[in-house]
Amino acid sequence: MNAYQDLVKRHEEIALLQACNALLSWDQETNLPAKGVAYRAQQRAALSEKVHELKTSEDVTRWLDACQDDSDGEASANAQWWRHAYERARKIPASMVGEFEEVTSLGLAAWQEAREKSDFALFQPHLQKIVDFNRQMADLWGYEESPYDALLEEYERGATAKNLAVLFADLKGPLVELVEAAIAKSADQPPRSLQGDYPIEAQQAFNLEVCQALGFDLDAGRIDTAAHPFCSRLAPNDTRLTTRYDLSDFTSSLFGVLHETGHGLYEQGLPQDKHALPSGTSISLGIHESQSRLWENQIGRSRAFWEHWLPVAQKHFPSLTDWTPEDVTRAVNQAERTFIRVEADEVTYDLHILLRFELEKQLIEGTLTVADLPEAWNASFKNLTNLTVPDHAHGCLQDIHWSMGALGYFPTYSLGNLNAAQLHAAALEQTPGLSDDLAQGNYASLLHWLQTNVHAHGSQLLPDELMTRATGRSTDKTPYLEHLRERYIH
Ligand code: ZN
Repeated sequence: MNAYQDLVKRHEEIALLQACNALLSWDQETNLPAKGVAYRAQQRAALSEKVHELKTSEDVTRWLDACQDDSDGEASANAQWWRHAYERARKIPASMVGEFEEVTSLGLAAWQEAREKSDFALFQPHLQKIVDFNRQMADLWGYEESPYDALLEEYERGATAKNLAVLFADLKGPLVELVEAAIAKSADQPPRSLQGDYPIEAQQAFNLEVCQALGFDLDAGRIDTAAHPFCSRLAPNDTRLTTRYDLSDFTSSLFGVLHETGHGLYEQGLPQDKHALPSGTSISLGIHESQSRLWENQIGRSRAFWEHWLPVAQKHFPSLTDWTPEDVTRAVNQAERTFIRVEADEVTYDLHILLRFELEKQLIEGTLTVADLPEAWNASFKNLTNLTVPDHAHGCLQDIHWSMGALGYFPTYSLGNLNAAQLHAAALEQTPGLSDDLAQGNYASLLHWLQTNVHAHGSQLLPDELMTRATGRSTDKTPYLEHLRERYIH
């Protein structure tokens, strides 16, 4: 066997163990009784340890060195990907990995209490450690301009603080104006309230029908219930979606399903026989989120979607009988200023991300201290939205990400929104008759376009290359702003 085949075999072994771990984790989120959590943690840790051993054994280094000059395009892209990942991993000493795990698990517990009590002081020393750790890791990984670049690399390969700062600065001005106009319009034409009585079985039946119509293969996936909706490909041909139900508003579970279905279609569209290889794995969070946002927002909140689906919804939910597609479209596209990111509507959402990007970049670059974070947050929030943050639970303590050690993650949400609009616009441009198909509830040609231009590449193209090939240019603000203007202002 040559070195490349050895590497493939090793990663198939790793993928198999990771699939076991993913199933344990999925079960923990959906079914596991509370008293089973402690032993489950041991099971998962044992598998993680085994995976770590397989990844860090000396064979891997030797094989990677030996397949330096592989000529096959896909094999060489896979080898390059592994080399990049292993070089990064090797720069962090094992002792530091263990310490970081401890710091973040204590950080997570402290954050939960701090958020409950809205008391930043409880979280501050933990956040300090987390920021220090991230800064140290960035120094070990290395970077050209900003230490923040080294952190971004973990979630969005090729993105830099500088490029994002330009992209987001470009977006900010027009977006703030748009938010202003959209809120005024929403206030001017208040929608009907969707609050009603929606039995869980009816919601499940409707969601399933929609999910299947979008092209999700239910013989290779499922929808279950979880407190925090997510999508996870457990194994080849086994992609799990979850959602949660609000008995007084069916759109909560529906948009959760639409979002996770977008993630799930990406996972199902990846070459399943290469699931253990970079060429069969999703490329980045910003591209993954583009798939969920495209189906949730571009498609699911459009007038065309409701023209087609309202009659079906009315069969499941008799209380919608006297609603029109126009009524529903308006109700699900309300613009409003809110404090909490995860509750924000499509048009105000990115303001929350711009704020977090700016602040975490400053924390890592050392231009903002952890002690000054709450004040900086509140000032920046006031500046962006004109709202006064009432307490830290509605401000800098609301998100879980930093407590888990993730800095450099937030920008991928906005990249997802921008990419979604850009990909959707490109698909419409390149696919004759696509608008008509969508109006008739036929999503096959859109899914085919996404499979060909996004899913099939796995990790063989970096996000920027993928966007450029699919749409003719790098991620850009224009299609997104046009989409928001069209939806919220016209
Ligand atoms: Zn998502």
